[in-house]
Amino acid sequence: MKRPAIDGGRLLRDIEELNRLGAEPGPGINRVAYSPADMAGRQLVGDWLRELGFSVRQDEAGNVSGVLPGTADGLPPLALGSHTDTVPNGGPLDGTLGVAAAVACARSLSAGSTRLRHPLEIIDFAAEEATMGGGLLGSRALSGQLEKGFGDAAGWDGRPVSEHLAGAGLDWRGLAAARREPGSLAAYLELHIEQGAILDRSGVPVAVVPGIVGIRRYQVVFTGQANHAGTTPMDQRDDALVKAVPFVLDVEGVGRELGLVATVGTFAVLPGASNVIPGRVELSFEIRSLDDGLLDQAGKRLLGAAEERGGEPRPISASAPVQSSPQVVSALEAACENLGQAHRLLPSGAGHDAMSIAAISQSAMLFIPSRGGISHAPEEYSTPEQCVAGAEVLLAGLLELDARLD
Ligand SMILES: [Zn+2]
Repeated sequence: MKRPAIDGGRLLRDIEELNRLGAEPGPGINRVAYSPADMAGRQLVGDWLRELGFSVRQDEAGNVSGVLPGTADGLPPLALGSHTDTVPNGGPLDGTLGVAAAVACARSLSAGSTRLRHPLEIIDFAAEEATMGGGLLGSRALSGQLEKGFGDAAGWDGRPVSEHLAGAGLDWRGLAAARREPGSLAAYLELHIEQGAILDRSGVPVAVVPGIVGIRRYQVVFTGQANHAGTTPMDQRDDALVKAVPFVLDVEGVGRELGLVATVGTFAVLPGASNVIPGRVELSFEIRSLDDGLLDQAGKRLLGAAEERGGEPRPISASAPVQSSPQVVSALEAACENLGQAHRLLPSGAGHDAMSIAAISQSAMLFIPSRGGISHAPEEYSTPEQCVAGAEVLLAGLLELDARLD
């Protein structure tokens, strides 16, 4: 069988057409979840799929998906997808690339009159960006992972999520009905920009993602005694900031030593006046890794270090690492090799819809480089060649899985 190729020009034009929606107001792309521009974007994707013969529906969460039947009986669909909502003043490729590339795969199969054995499903997930309280709202609804009371959470503009949904004609109380059963998809693949600079720096154009890192966040409070900075001698001070600062270096050191990422992201000095010895420091730090054991080890060491330095640490949140399916990773690696495409493995440091979908289906992701590692900003950029190369691997991976999976 001649391998169907991606029509790169068409892929780039589709991305441009989508990005004309939400080009205003403000710089960058503005298709914030459930806004008129976002709904119009997902309507456009639905229209493309309908033209390609897919049966298209929007579910209770606003996820737009299309299914094209396969040639074999009784197989669950192979799914491709991502999201087309953006952060305010977002970039042109985050999510959009993955959806447009999925459509490009469908266009290519259609142009070559190639039918998969499995049904092909393309999903444009709703509200992936963390603009509706937490992120991944559409994919969490679809995989049955909505938390209670999510409708009352504040959206990015302070209005409750329920109100944003109502504005798009959706009822937050009905979202759970979007749920699908485990095993209802044969596999899920998602192409995305890296949103970091590792591929850009290393010059490798494609990464297969072996998993999405787990994240643990902690708060530490250091307490001292606020006092007059002019009249309190150096040997009579209890300075909270002097206790806290070495801990910042502990976090950095443990990250380097154990080979994970560790960051102090907030740091407040109180009362915060130049003539007062700091009486209290509140900081938060997080650690991320694909390896749960490493997270345990780093968490334990840093909690111990915080106490040793006189702080009171407490955990704030923890999400477990999500491993990609080894079978899907191996199919994607084989796809790269068949295409002669240089690639490497790279875990994702950010959350994606694939993380939710892993609860109901085997899944894996592909990354292409982000120039300078910049995303969630108008400057977000990958070259046209990188976008097309990513779509080519996505298509080859899809065909590989169609042959390998039952
Ligand atoms: Zn994204």
